[in-house]
Amino acid sequence: MNNNRLLQIAIDGPSASGKSTLAKDLARALHIMHLDTGAMYRAIAAFVIRNKLDEEFLTPRMLETLNFCVEHGAAGEISYFVDSQDLSPYLRDESVSAQASILSRLPHVRAYLVNMQQQIAMGQAIVMDGRDIQTVVLPNADYKFFIDADPMERAKRRQAELTKAHQNADIGEIHQALIERDTRDRTREHGPLKKAIDAHFLDNTSVGRAQQLAWALGIINS
Ligand code: C5P
Repeated sequence: MNNNRLLQIAIDGPSASGKSTLAKDLARALHIMHLDTGAMYRAIAAFVIRNKLDEEFLTPRMLETLNFCVEHGAAGEISYFVDSQDLSPYLRDESVSAQASILSRLPHVRAYLVNMQQQIAMGQAIVMDGRDIQTVVLPNADYKFFIDADPMERAKRRQAELTKAHQNADIGEIHQALIERDTRDRTREHGPLKKAIDAHFLDNTSVGRAQQLAWALGIINS
Protein backbone atom coordinates (compact mmCIF):
# COMPACT_ATOMS: atom_id res chain seq x y z
CA MET A 1 0.00 0.00 0.00
CA ASN A 2 1.15 3.54 -0.83
CA ASN A 3 2.00 5.22 2.47
CA ASN A 4 1.60 8.84 1.41
CA ARG A 5 -1.94 10.17 1.23
CA LEU A 6 -2.04 10.73 -2.54
CA LEU A 7 -4.23 8.26 -4.34
CA GLN A 8 -2.46 6.07 -6.90
CA ILE A 9 -4.33 3.69 -9.18
CA ALA A 10 -2.63 1.18 -11.49
CA ILE A 11 -4.52 -0.33 -14.43
CA ASP A 12 -3.09 -2.97 -16.75
CA GLY A 13 -4.46 -5.14 -19.52
CA PRO A 14 -3.87 -6.22 -23.13
CA SER A 15 -4.44 -4.10 -26.27
CA ALA A 16 -7.90 -2.58 -26.69
CA SER A 17 -9.15 -4.07 -23.42
CA GLY A 18 -10.64 -0.74 -22.33
CA LYS A 19 -8.00 0.05 -19.70
CA SER A 20 -7.38 3.59 -20.99
CA THR A 21 -11.13 4.24 -21.06
CA LEU A 22 -11.42 3.11 -17.44
CA ALA A 23 -8.36 5.18 -16.49
CA LYS A 24 -9.82 8.28 -18.18
CA ASP A 25 -13.21 7.76 -16.54
CA LEU A 26 -11.65 7.25 -13.08
CA ALA A 27 -9.44 10.34 -13.50
CA ARG A 28 -12.52 12.42 -14.35
CA ALA A 29 -14.62 10.98 -11.52
CA LEU A 30 -11.90 11.36 -8.90
CA HIS A 31 -10.38 14.64 -10.23
CA ILE A 32 -6.91 13.18 -10.52
CA MET A 33 -4.35 13.03 -13.33
CA HIS A 34 -4.37 10.29 -15.98
CA LEU A 35 -1.22 8.99 -17.65
CA ASP A 36 -1.59 6.64 -20.63
CA THR A 37 1.83 4.96 -20.64
CA GLY A 38 1.06 3.07 -23.89
CA ALA A 39 0.99 6.46 -25.64
CA MET A 40 4.56 7.07 -24.40
CA TYR A 41 5.80 3.82 -26.00
CA ARG A 42 3.79 4.75 -29.09
CA ALA A 43 5.43 8.21 -29.23
CA ILE A 44 8.91 6.65 -29.26
CA ALA A 45 7.75 4.20 -31.96
CA ALA A 46 6.23 7.01 -34.08
CA PHE A 47 9.45 9.01 -33.71
CA VAL A 48 11.49 6.04 -34.95
CA ILE A 49 9.14 5.39 -37.90
CA ARG A 50 8.75 9.01 -38.99
CA ASN A 51 12.49 9.65 -38.89
CA LYS A 52 13.23 6.33 -40.63
CA LEU A 53 15.46 5.17 -37.78
CA ASP A 54 16.06 1.63 -36.61
CA GLU A 55 16.06 0.31 -33.06
CA GLU A 56 19.89 0.44 -32.85
CA PHE A 57 19.45 4.21 -32.77
CA LEU A 58 17.76 3.93 -29.36
CA THR A 59 20.88 3.38 -27.27
CA PRO A 60 20.72 4.25 -23.55
CA ARG A 61 22.93 7.26 -24.30
CA MET A 62 20.72 8.49 -27.15
CA LEU A 63 17.60 8.12 -24.98
CA GLU A 64 19.16 10.37 -22.36
CA THR A 65 19.52 13.13 -24.95
CA LEU A 66 15.96 12.77 -26.35
CA ASN A 67 13.72 15.60 -25.32
CA PHE A 68 10.51 13.72 -24.47
CA CYS A 69 7.55 15.81 -23.21
CA VAL A 70 3.96 15.04 -22.28
CA GLU A 71 1.86 18.22 -22.43
CA HIS A 72 -1.64 18.57 -20.97
CA GLY A 73 -3.72 21.13 -22.91
CA ALA A 74 -6.45 23.36 -21.49
CA ALA A 75 -9.23 21.34 -23.18
CA GLY A 76 -7.98 18.11 -21.60
CA GLU A 77 -6.07 16.99 -24.71
CA ILE A 78 -2.64 15.41 -24.19
CA SER A 79 0.23 15.89 -26.67
CA TYR A 80 3.39 13.81 -26.89
CA PHE A 81 6.55 15.48 -28.20
CA VAL A 82 9.93 13.90 -28.92
CA ASP A 83 12.67 16.38 -29.86
CA SER A 84 10.03 19.06 -30.52
CA GLN A 85 8.10 16.83 -32.97
CA ASP A 86 4.42 16.47 -32.03
CA LEU A 87 3.76 12.76 -32.55
CA SER A 88 0.21 12.79 -31.18
CA PRO A 89 -1.54 12.51 -34.60
CA TYR A 90 0.27 9.26 -35.45
CA LEU A 91 -0.04 7.33 -32.19
CA ARG A 92 -2.98 5.12 -33.20
CA ASP A 93 -1.62 4.04 -36.63
CA GLU A 94 -1.37 0.25 -36.95
CA SER A 95 2.34 0.53 -37.91
CA VAL A 96 2.94 2.45 -34.67
CA SER A 97 1.04 -0.17 -32.61
CA ALA A 98 3.27 -2.92 -33.98
CA GLN A 99 6.50 -0.93 -33.61
CA ALA A 100 5.63 0.11 -30.02
CA SER A 101 5.19 -3.52 -29.03
CA ILE A 102 8.53 -4.42 -30.68
CA LEU A 103 10.51 -1.54 -29.12
CA SER A 104 8.97 -2.04 -25.69
CA ARG A 105 10.88 -5.31 -25.25
CA LEU A 106 14.18 -3.34 -25.09
CA PRO A 107 15.25 -3.04 -21.41
CA HIS A 108 16.82 0.43 -21.82
CA VAL A 109 13.66 1.81 -23.50
CA ARG A 110 11.60 0.42 -20.60
CA ALA A 111 14.02 1.78 -17.97
CA TYR A 112 13.89 5.23 -19.61
CA LEU A 113 10.07 5.38 -19.71
CA VAL A 114 9.50 3.67 -16.32
CA ASN A 115 11.76 6.26 -14.71
CA MET A 116 9.85 9.11 -16.41
CA GLN A 117 6.49 7.60 -15.36
CA GLN A 118 7.64 7.27 -11.73
CA GLN A 119 8.85 10.89 -11.77
CA ILE A 120 5.46 12.06 -13.09
CA ALA A 121 3.67 10.05 -10.37
CA MET A 122 5.80 11.48 -7.61
CA GLY A 123 3.85 13.82 -5.37
CA GLN A 124 0.52 13.73 -7.20
CA ALA A 125 -2.63 11.66 -7.22
CA ILE A 126 -2.70 9.69 -10.46
CA VAL A 127 -4.29 6.88 -12.42
CA MET A 128 -1.87 5.22 -14.81
CA ASP A 129 -2.59 2.52 -17.38
CA GLY A 130 -0.30 0.21 -19.32
CA ARG A 131 1.20 -3.28 -19.05
CA ASP A 132 3.61 -3.15 -16.10
CA ILE A 133 2.06 -0.45 -13.91
CA GLN A 134 0.92 -2.70 -11.04
CA THR A 135 4.07 -4.85 -11.11
CA VAL A 136 6.91 -2.40 -11.93
CA VAL A 137 5.96 1.28 -12.15
CA LEU A 138 3.59 1.63 -9.16
CA PRO A 139 3.88 -1.66 -7.23
CA ASN A 140 2.59 0.12 -4.09
CA ALA A 141 -0.49 1.62 -5.79
CA ASP A 142 -3.57 1.90 -3.57
CA TYR A 143 -5.76 0.14 -6.14
CA LYS A 144 -4.79 -2.23 -8.92
CA PHE A 145 -7.14 -3.25 -11.71
CA PHE A 146 -6.46 -5.83 -14.41
CA ILE A 147 -8.82 -5.53 -17.38
CA ASP A 148 -9.31 -8.08 -20.17
CA ALA A 149 -11.86 -8.97 -22.85
CA ASP A 150 -12.33 -11.61 -25.52
CA PRO A 151 -9.75 -11.05 -28.34
CA MET A 152 -12.39 -10.77 -31.10
CA GLU A 153 -14.30 -8.19 -29.07
CA ARG A 154 -11.06 -6.26 -28.59
CA ALA A 155 -10.35 -6.46 -32.35
CA LYS A 156 -13.81 -5.00 -33.04
CA ARG A 157 -13.12 -2.12 -30.64
CA ARG A 158 -9.80 -1.45 -32.34
CA GLN A 159 -11.48 -1.51 -35.78
CA ALA A 160 -14.06 1.03 -34.59
CA GLU A 161 -11.22 3.26 -33.35
CA LEU A 162 -9.46 3.02 -36.74
CA THR A 163 -12.70 3.68 -38.66
CA LYS A 164 -13.23 6.81 -36.57
CA ALA A 165 -9.74 7.93 -37.62
CA HIS A 166 -10.71 7.23 -41.29
CA GLN A 167 -8.40 4.23 -41.54
CA ASN A 168 -9.79 1.04 -43.05
CA ALA A 169 -8.58 -2.28 -41.74
CA ASP A 170 -9.73 -5.84 -42.11
CA ILE A 171 -11.03 -7.36 -38.85
CA GLY A 172 -9.06 -10.59 -39.46
CA GLU A 173 -5.81 -8.66 -39.85
CA ILE A 174 -6.51 -6.54 -36.77
CA HIS A 175 -7.29 -9.69 -34.73
CA GLN A 176 -4.08 -11.36 -35.92
CA ALA A 177 -1.93 -8.27 -35.15
CA LEU A 178 -3.54 -7.96 -31.72
CA ILE A 179 -2.78 -11.60 -30.84
CA GLU A 180 0.85 -11.12 -31.96
CA ARG A 181 1.21 -7.99 -29.81
CA ASP A 182 -0.40 -9.69 -26.80
CA THR A 183 1.98 -12.65 -27.11
CA ARG A 184 5.01 -10.34 -27.31
CA ASP A 185 3.76 -8.25 -24.37
CA ARG A 186 3.04 -11.30 -22.17
CA THR A 187 6.21 -13.27 -22.91
CA ARG A 188 8.94 -10.62 -22.98
CA GLU A 189 11.67 -10.78 -20.37
CA HIS A 190 11.37 -7.22 -19.03
CA GLY A 191 8.09 -5.79 -17.70
CA PRO A 192 5.77 -8.43 -19.21
CA LEU A 193 2.00 -7.95 -19.02
CA LYS A 194 1.01 -9.75 -15.82
CA LYS A 195 -1.74 -9.44 -13.24
CA ALA A 196 -0.42 -8.58 -9.75
CA ILE A 197 -1.59 -10.95 -7.01
CA ASP A 198 -3.47 -8.12 -5.29
CA ALA A 199 -5.14 -6.75 -8.46
CA HIS A 200 -8.92 -6.77 -9.00
CA PHE A 201 -9.80 -8.52 -12.26
CA LEU A 202 -12.58 -7.63 -14.72
CA ASP A 203 -13.45 -9.35 -18.01
CA ASN A 204 -15.42 -6.57 -19.70
CA THR A 205 -16.37 -8.47 -22.90
CA SER A 206 -20.05 -7.78 -22.17
CA VAL A 207 -19.68 -4.96 -19.69
CA GLY A 208 -20.46 -1.38 -20.73
CA ARG A 209 -18.35 1.67 -20.00
CA ALA A 210 -20.58 3.01 -17.21
CA GLN A 211 -20.82 -0.41 -15.57
CA GLN A 212 -17.03 -0.80 -15.71
CA LEU A 213 -16.55 2.57 -14.00
CA ALA A 214 -19.17 1.71 -11.36
CA TRP A 215 -17.33 -1.58 -10.65
CA ALA A 216 -14.00 0.21 -10.06
CA LEU A 217 -15.54 3.06 -8.05
CA GLY A 218 -17.39 0.47 -5.95
CA ILE A 219 -14.05 -1.12 -4.99
CA ILE A 220 -12.40 2.26 -4.30
CA ASN A 221 -15.32 3.50 -2.19
CA SER A 222 -15.85 0.30 -0.25
O1 C5P B 1 -1.61 0.33 -24.40
P1 C5P B 1 -1.18 0.47 -25.83
O2 C5P B 1 -1.79 -0.56 -26.74
O3 C5P B 1 -1.36 1.86 -26.35
O4 C5P B 1 0.39 0.21 -25.80
C1 C5P B 1 1.17 0.12 -26.98
C2 C5P B 1 2.35 -0.82 -26.74
O5 C5P B 1 3.23 -0.24 -25.79
C3 C5P B 1 1.94 -2.19 -26.16
O6 C5P B 1 1.73 -3.16 -27.16
C4 C5P B 1 3.11 -2.55 -25.28
O7 C5P B 1 4.04 -3.33 -25.98
C5 C5P B 1 3.77 -1.23 -24.93
N1 C5P B 1 3.55 -0.87 -23.54
C6 C5P B 1 4.39 -1.41 -22.59
N2 C5P B 1 4.29 -1.03 -21.29
C7 C5P B 1 3.36 -0.15 -20.91
C8 C5P B 1 2.46 0.41 -21.85
C9 C5P B 1 2.57 -0.01 -23.17
O8 C5P B 1 5.23 -2.23 -22.92
N3 C5P B 1 3.32 0.24 -19.63
